[in-house]
Amino acid sequence: MKSLLVLSVLLLSLTLSAQQTYIYCGNLVNVKKGEVVSEKTIIVEEDRIVEVKDGFVDVPENSKLIDLSSSTVLPGLFDMHVHLESETSKDNYIKPFTLDEADVAYEAQSHARTTLMAGFTSVRDLGGTGVNSSLRDAINKGLVMGPRIYSAGKSIATTGGHADPTNGYKADLMGTPGPADGVINGTAAAREAVRQRYKNGSDVIKITATGGVLSVAKSGQNPQFFEDEIRAIVETANDYGMLTAAHAHGDKGMQRAIKAGIKTIEHGTLMSEETMELMIKHDTYLVPTITAGKSVAELAEIEGYYPDLVVPKAKAIGPKLQNTFEKAYKKGVNIVFGTDAGVFKHGNNAKEFGYMVEVGMPAMEAIQSATLIPAKLLNVEDLYGSIEEGKMADIIAVEKNPIQNISTLRNVIFVMKGGEVVKP
Ligand SMILES: [Zn+2]
Repeated sequence: MKSLLVLSVLLLSLTLSAQQTYIYCGNLVNVKKGEVVSEKTIIVEEDRIVEVKDGFVDVPENSKLIDLSSSTVLPGLFDMHVHLESETSKDNYIKPFTLDEADVAYEAQSHARTTLMAGFTSVRDLGGTGVNSSLRDAINKGLVMGPRIYSAGKSIATTGGHADPTNGYKADLMGTPGPADGVINGTAAAREAVRQRYKNGSDVIKITATGGVLSVAKSGQNPQFFEDEIRAIVETANDYGMLTAAHAHGDKGMQRAIKAGIKTIEHGTLMSEETMELMIKHDTYLVPTITAGKSVAELAEIEGYYPDLVVPKAKAIGPKLQNTFEKAYKKGVNIVFGTDAGVFKHGNNAKEFGYMVEVGMPAMEAIQSATLIPAKLLNVEDLYGSIEEGKMADIIAVEKNPIQNISTLRNVIFVMKGGEVVKP
C-alpha cells in the first residue's frame, strides 16, 4: 500500500515536471478553417500539442521558448508520392547492378533527411525494393532522421509493365519475376502480391496501371492491367486497410483503375474529361506530380541522360502534367499533394506548390492538399495534418506568409517532428 502511494506521488511529480515548449507564431496557418491567424502560442509537451493560445503568452520558468514571432507556422507537410531509395542521375539505370542493398539504404537515409529538412514530416513512399520499409522502421526507432513513411514496399506491375524490375535486361538476367517481386498476371497472383506486401510490412499498395516514362519500354501510356486484376488488388488491400495508388498516364488504364476502386491516381497525364467525371463520381484523388513532369522533360534534353527508349516519352509526357492538373482541378477533381521526388532531386518537393498555384489553385487549398487531405486519406487525421490540441507536434515555419508568397515554402527555416526540433 505504501509503495503504491510512493509510486503515485512519483508519477504525479513526473507529470507535473514534464517540460513544456512554448512556440510563438507570428502567423499560424489554420488549415481546418482555411485562414491565417496572427500572434498565437503553441504549447508542446513531449510529442503532443497540448494547447494553442491567443497572443504571446508568458512562458513559465521551467518551460522553453521557441520564438517564431516573425515567421509563419504551419503543420508539417505531406508528400504523397516520393521514392526515397533513389534520386535521378545519369547512372541510375546501372545502379541495380552496382549497388548493394546496404548502399541503397545509406542513400535512402540521406534522401529521407533531406526531405524532412524541407518541411515534409510525412511521406508516402510509392515504390522501391523494400529498403523503404526498413528505412521507415529505422526512422521510427530514432536510429536515423527522416519523415514518417507510409511505404508501398515494392510496387506491383504486370509482366513487362512499368514496375517490372527486370525490364530492359538481357534475357538471362530477366528471369521470371512473380507476385513476391511485384509482378502479377491474373487475379490470384494479384491477391497474392498484396498479401505478400502485407506480410512484408507495407502500409499502402501501389500499382502501375499504365506504361511509364522512365521504364525501358516502348509505351508510356498503354493499359497494363485488366480491370479484374485491379479489382482483386483493391479488394485485397481494403481487407488490410491499405490505401491504394495507381500510376497512370494513359486514359484507358486510368479508367480501369478508377472503376476498380483505386483511391489515388498518380500523374493522370492524358486524362480525358470523361475520366475526370469518373474520378469525381468515385471520389478518386489526383496526385499531380507536376515537378517530376517538368524535370524529366528538361533532363531528356541532356544527351545520354536517359536511355534512348525513354527520351521521346519524357519529352512528350513530362510537359503535359501541369495542364492536366489545371483542367482536373477546375473541373472539381479531388487533389492531394504529391511530387514523385526522386525522379527529381529530393528536398525540392515544395516547388510543386508554385506550379499548382500558378495555374489557379488558391494557396490555401494547395497547403490543405499537403496537410489535412493526405492525413485524412491515410486515416491518421486524429494525429496529423493540422495544428490542434491533442495532435502530434509536427510543426514547420517559413519566413513569409505563403498565402501571399507561395515560394516561401521552398525555404523552410524550422522543423519540429513529434515535439523534437530537427531544424535548425
Ligand atoms: Zn513515382
